[in-house]
Amino acid sequence: MAKRDILIIPDKQLRLTSEPVGAIDASVRTLIEDMFETMYEAPGIGLAAIQVGVPRRVITLDLARKDEPKAPQVFINPEVVWSSEEKSVYEEGCLSIPEYYEEVERPAAVRVKYLDREGQPQEIEASGLLATCLQHEIDHINGVLFIDHISKLKRDMIVKKFKKAQKRGEPVKPLSEDKEPSHHIG
Ligand SMILES: [Zn+2]
Repeated sequence: MAKRDILIIPDKQLRLTSEPVGAIDASVRTLIEDMFETMYEAPGIGLAAIQVGVPRRVITLDLARKDEPKAPQVFINPEVVWSSEEKSVYEEGCLSIPEYYEEVERPAAVRVKYLDREGQPQEIEASGLLATCLQHEIDHINGVLFIDHISKLKRDMIVKKFKKAQKRGEPVKPLSEDKEPSHHIG
């Protein structure tokens, strides 16, 4: 396993639409292992392959709390097939937009079709944090970021800030260690 670098806005690759995975071969299995290592190290609770520069429709999640055993989940070619009328609001963060958190409203529950690690078709109905994370990560593989769901004014401000930092060649500050990873949706 190897930790990979996480892309930060305004990296244009984050706007790519990722391609579906065909066969789950050795390269896909290595990608999944690397994504978990990268996600745990960050720390974050979710990661989309495009965040490490691989435009494939692969998502890793682990919503276990610090005091709970690891609960890794993999979603390949995930697709939202139903979303609830009811909405919920959650303060989201993103490993590709470090140090920025904002409340985002999304459907409170979704049903998602996907392939598991073995390539078997699965379907789950998710609510709460899992529903939020799945929608956040599925957005990533469609080139959408959580800041696209907030006001244009706030979005423009945050993008400008990251563009300036990039121009100055400043490294983006690492996420502080003591923050709950649940904030860093991925
Ligand atoms: Zn994200």
